[in-house]
Amino acid sequence: MIYKEYGKTGEKVSAVGFGGMRFDLKRSNEENAGLIKYAFDKGINYFDTAPGYCEDKSEDIYGLAFKDMKDGFFVSTKGMPVKFDTAQKARDAVKKSLERLKVDKIDFYHVWCLRKMEHYELAMKPGGQYEGLMQCKEEGLIGHIVFSSHQPGSEIKNILKQDKMEGVLLGVNILNFPYRWDGVAAAYEMGYGVVAMNPLGGGMIPQNESRLAFLSEDGETPTEAALRFVIACPEITVALNGFTTREHIDTACKIADNAGSFTDEELESIKKRLGSNMDKACTACGYCDVCPQGINIPAYMQHYNDKQIFGSNDEKLKKEIGFSHGWGILASSSARAGDCVECGKCEEECTQHLPIIERLKELLVLENEIYKE
Ligand code: SF4
Ligand code: SF4
Repeated sequence: MIYKEYGKTGEKVSAVGFGGMRFDLKRSNEENAGLIKYAFDKGINYFDTAPGYCEDKSEDIYGLAFKDMKDGFFVSTKGMPVKFDTAQKARDAVKKSLERLKVDKIDFYHVWCLRKMEHYELAMKPGGQYEGLMQCKEEGLIGHIVFSSHQPGSEIKNILKQDKMEGVLLGVNILNFPYRWDGVAAAYEMGYGVVAMNPLGGGMIPQNESRLAFLSEDGETPTEAALRFVIACPEITVALNGFTTREHIDTACKIADNAGSFTDEELESIKKRLGSNMDKACTACGYCDVCPQGINIPAYMQHYNDKQIFGSNDEKLKKEIGFSHGWGILASSSARAGDCVECGKCEEECTQHLPIIERLKELLVLENEIYKE
């Protein structure tokens, strides 16, 4: 296992983290807790959860495991500023999580799910969530206050510049990294911890291995390549995996045992391979970020990729786009597909020469259906 310094916190965390949002609920809580203990024995020391995950059972499952585990692991959980909007509510939420997790301290507490700057401002208002978390920190109930974000890199940078948070959790993987990288790189360069969620694109990568064979090197599978990417990039401190089997844990640990550091040349090589193998697909390079209407074109084109490359049907796409507007990357911008004035600037810049305007029109039909329903 590789262990990395989490930013400036002085904590040494495993490059592979256990993400607690995918427990198999057909199993008993004890069985799922056994998987956590197995991961700990294999060298994983970073365990992430949140209230509400897995039908609200995740924190309890961790609690079952933690009461049997000796010291030497880090606990991460979360609270949303929109839900816990006063210092008192934030303190109560921390205490509830501590009770369920059966620990005395939450090492990394996330101001959860920032989708726009207003969410950050809400957390930071006098008497708000951050104030309550700082009180908890002073009492030793929290180790470090960090945040999870679905925002563009520029907003992540702005938050980190305030120097109130000690690290960030965001969704980055081998397919979307060109577009998400500025937030990751900025956090790394400023000396903050970066935790990557969703390393397998929500299951898209293992489900489409034959289409993504170009991602692999030296006999590895595309899934292994995707895991190696998040584990071995120095900019990423911890790669969260939602393990459901011991075999998944073994695979990730084996990669962490053998992976050398990912170099800038390798990143460039993947970018090129994304460009040359994803014909007529968006490679998330971000060069189209010129829209006078402020439309988040790469985000829309990533949704189109789901249809074109991964065969998502309209219903699935509508669900994903709706989620994206509510909770994901599209939430930080008010501009929608329908705001396109067909100026053509984005198509001039597109490295893949994609018919962006036509694709936005197709997505607009779905978007209109979402908001009609
Ligand atoms: S064509 Fe539409 S999406 Fe592209 S830059 Fe112009 S307004 Fe924005
Ligand atoms: S320039 Fe083209 S390929 Fe690159 S992010 Fe924009 S739409 Fe995707």
